Amino acid sequence: MTTALDTHDLKSRFGGKLLHPNDRGYDAARKVFNAMIDRRPGLIAQCTSPEDVVLVVNFARERRLLLSVRCAGHNVAGFAVCNEGVVIDLSLMKHIAVNAAARSVRVEAGTTWGEITDALQPHGLAATGGYVSVTGVSGLTLGGGLGWLARKHGLAIDNLLSAEVVLADGRRVNASAGENEDLYWALRGGGGNFGIVTSFTFQAHPAGTVLGGIVVHPFAVATSVLRRWREFEETAPEELTEGAMLFHFGNDPAVPAPLRGVKVVAAGGVYAGAAEEGEKVLAPLRAFGPPVADLFQSMPYSAAQRMADFLWPPGLLNYWKSCFLEDLSDAAIQVIADFFSRVPSAHTVVVLESLGHSAIQRVPEAATAFVNRRYPFNFLVTSAWSDAADTGKNVLWARQFFEAMGPFAAKASYVNYIGDEGVDGVRAAYGDEKFARLAALKAKFDPTNLFRMNQNVTPAFR
Ligand SMILES: Cc1cc2nc3c(=O)[nH]c(=O)nc-3n(C[C@H](O)[C@H](O)[C@H](O)COP(=O)(O)OP(=O)(O)OC[C@H]3O[C@@H](n4cnc5c(N)ncnc54)[C@H](O)[C@@H]3O)c2cc1C
Repeated sequence: MTTALDTHDLKSRFGGKLLHPNDRGYDAARKVFNAMIDRRPGLIAQCTSPEDVVLVVNFARERRLLLSVRCAGHNVAGFAVCNEGVVIDLSLMKHIAVNAAARSVRVEAGTTWGEITDALQPHGLAATGGYVSVTGVSGLTLGGGLGWLARKHGLAIDNLLSAEVVLADGRRVNASAGENEDLYWALRGGGGNFGIVTSFTFQAHPAGTVLGGIVVHPFAVATSVLRRWREFEETAPEELTEGAMLFHFGNDPAVPAPLRGVKVVAAGGVYAGAAEEGEKVLAPLRAFGPPVADLFQSMPYSAAQRMADFLWPPGLLNYWKSCFLEDLSDAAIQVIADFFSRVPSAHTVVVLESLGHSAIQRVPEAATAFVNRRYPFNFLVTSAWSDAADTGKNVLWARQFFEAMGPFAAKASYVNYIGDEGVDGVRAAYGDEKFARLAALKAKFDPTNLFRMNQNVTPAFR
């Protein structure tokens, strides 16, 4: 039984909604993307302003309560919710202001990438965002932020102009290249460790219409398709942000008959440049095989940002493993095909993101807290299933798969794609040097580790 927290002191000044266990809406508000996470906070504070956030930060700190922060709840480790403590829920803070002349957009911290894309599309603009529309701006950006414009314009953090932040002591500050530079550095890749961001301002880019889609092949030819895709990626221009994926199409009438329920390997993404040039660039990828389906077409960027949503429906049980790859050797491809041939769930997706020779590497490694800009591929297993009775076999399969990829893995991973791997996992993801700098900044901005429901960097005092 979760104890409801006494919010007498908070109620009169708080502008949003306070949800206690047994309140209507409490159960919906404590649900996150990953159905493995079932936590019962003592209070969910749905904030509507930075002032609300300050009140709840002070409330939690003064009472030494466990505190978590939620935007869209996509973090697979479930850090957005906690047991017994307080959730600062930002999902009602969705104001978006586009400055078309400056090509920038200021968004409140509860917006999703789909909402930002929809606000920018009428201006022929896009922010770098994520690969799906429903992920939250906050968690994605603070960890780095990979999306369909990453190879052309970099990570979300590379386009972050400024952030408004509530610190652990309740102060409100700005972070940008000219103000609180050390905080600005830490926010760009260091996750939710340093404060609660209440708004972000991003550089946006022209991207009205793009060429988006995938080519689909039968799983039986996975190894030859992945090898061809790897060669294709070696010379792909920055306008093209692409991935390869292994998955099952759903068994529903919306899927074209030949693909219904079928296990496939696919390659695709977004070409954000002149359509004619894009057709030329994509021609070899589209000709190879040939594919059983070629779903590339010209579309508004807002449609491209939604095209992968179907692969990750909410409400499933999830267990993810991820690491960067030094390269994608034939032996690695063979391991991927072998494991996917015996994947225990038709909801599981394996992703290879191509990140090399792109705008990501144009930003110096030391410029932000994000690590490991140099790796050409990011490998991600999103193991997902619907029946709790299948948890053991799906988790075991994902672990064994990840272990088998060990010889090809870089000793580094993207913090937004990993589960709760403890302090060792966080240190390994950042590497010793960046971890040490982050830990020193943590001691400056959050000495008591109030913000610890995250890929946690523990404070290091000199
Ligand atoms: C289906 C799916 C698709 C994904 N696609 C992508 C993708 O395309 N690119 C990519 O880079 N990543 C992607 N991710 C990973 C994603 O970036 C992380 O899961 C991220 O944490 C999600 O952000 P959120 O705000 O929705 O998460 P939440 O679960 O709401 O928050 C996650 C954590 O971020 C911190 N946090 C949230 N809001 C704030 C804030 N305002 N201030 C300070 N800290 C805060 C907290 O520590 C919180 O626990 C995807 C995840 C899923 C499940």
